[in-house]
Amino acid sequence: MQKIYFYITTPLYSVEDSPNIGHAYTTLAADVLARHKRARQVPVFFQTGTEEHGSHVEKRAKDTGMAPRAWADSVSGNFKRLWELLNIKYDHFIRTTDPTHEKAVRAVFKKLLLSEDIYPGKHEGLFCRSCEIFYAADELKSGNCPVHGSPAEKVSGDAYFFRLSKYEKALLKHYGENPLFLAPQNRAREILNFVSAGLKDIPVSSGGDSSWGIKAPSNPAQILYAWFGALLNYATGPGYDPDTPSDGFDMKWPADAHLTGKETLRFHAVVWPAMLMALGLELPKKIYAHGWWTVNGEKISKSKSNAISPEDIVREYGADVLRYYIFREVPFGADGDFSLEALKRRYNSELANDLGNLFSRVLSMVRKYLENRLPDKPENADLFNDISARGPEINGKIDAMRFSEALDDIWHIVGILNKAIDDKKPWELARSGSEELKPFLYDLVWSLRVIAGWIYPFMPDTATKMQLGLAVGRTSAEGLETQKPPTLFPRKE
Ligand code: ZN
Repeated sequence: MQKIYFYITTPLYSVEDSPNIGHAYTTLAADVLARHKRARQVPVFFQTGTEEHGSHVEKRAKDTGMAPRAWADSVSGNFKRLWELLNIKYDHFIRTTDPTHEKAVRAVFKKLLLSEDIYPGKHEGLFCRSCEIFYAADELKSGNCPVHGSPAEKVSGDAYFFRLSKYEKALLKHYGENPLFLAPQNRAREILNFVSAGLKDIPVSSGGDSSWGIKAPSNPAQILYAWFGALLNYATGPGYDPDTPSDGFDMKWPADAHLTGKETLRFHAVVWPAMLMALGLELPKKIYAHGWWTVNGEKISKSKSNAISPEDIVREYGADVLRYYIFREVPFGADGDFSLEALKRRYNSELANDLGNLFSRVLSMVRKYLENRLPDKPENADLFNDISARGPEINGKIDAMRFSEALDDIWHIVGILNKAIDDKKPWELARSGSEELKPFLYDLVWSLRVIAGWIYPFMPDTATKMQLGLAVGRTSAEGLETQKPPTLFPRKE
């Protein structure tokens, strides 16, 4: 079987906590890319899911008086509900507690044990339970995990190790030969420096105090770290199992875009490709690390009660507005600051004013001056031709995940159209019975149709409303003439 799908993944989100704006950001980015590809007839496989194992999850469940399985079911359900609310259309939701996934992980472990890429040993060091990795003392911030801020614990005992050091040279060679493999550039340099400084083998299991995980098949006293199984999801989700060939896997592998947060980039850009090399599988085409969101300048934290609820924003503004705001506000890859004031400002000026007004102005003119009947394409549809010629550039930016630049370009064009109306004054053309009126309105309607296509991946509901509204202006209108055009974005006071 040949690869036919464009395969997009998000990281698996730990069920240690319910989803926040950061999780939503990654998954929405994957959804924008997926919708963009699908709209252009590319077969897409978009996978997301939840990481459910680990002593940190077990502890979280115990603290609330729940069994880990029931806790995982409940939090995993919260993720699914939020993705539905945000209009995220994934093809597969994988859970690391899925029996087929667990079976494949055990088979991978056995295969790597046989090839001696995994071997038994003893570990000792400073451990973060949530990361499930050991830190060197100088990597910690006053003794705390640099990602989680929780104190690192001294841990020692038996473990299985993955022979990461063996792949140091092959990884450096791969980064060198594939400059687009890691993005953005500054993150790629960090990874290059990290690997160039030398890789150590890393423990993938512990014989610790938790049994909430996949047992090592060779020694059931050893529980595999959650991340080891979680990384393998990208392969097992579409059907990889070293014991069983799978057409579904062959049609999807390798992944075209692994999206991830910068905090897990070492796992995705170093450990995961090394595991794939050890398994003899092709490496993904691109690994893309996006930045972190702060809220009003502060790191998102439950204790500071500054966590923005995506549900509240959707209730107030609708999913499209959140989708628009987070990709317009910050270049994808950089860190961003979430502020409700900034969201409202953009809503009123860019959505209600710029796009919403343009749309309703054009529709009411078509209604008033042309009785909802657009002329055939005029000889010189110059404005429309100029605008649709920008398509390849805008599409290229979405392909490259330069989302904010694509939106900047689209809103620049919205501005051009609004200015063209102000300059041309179609109401005066109508009054004087000018020949210029019909071709100008043709230009405007068709330009708006192009814009609806461009914004579709970001704002699918708005794009659909626009397309339906614009169908009113068809030459052979099909009973839609009497429909009142919708207000896309009612102003917020
Ligand atoms: Zn940590």
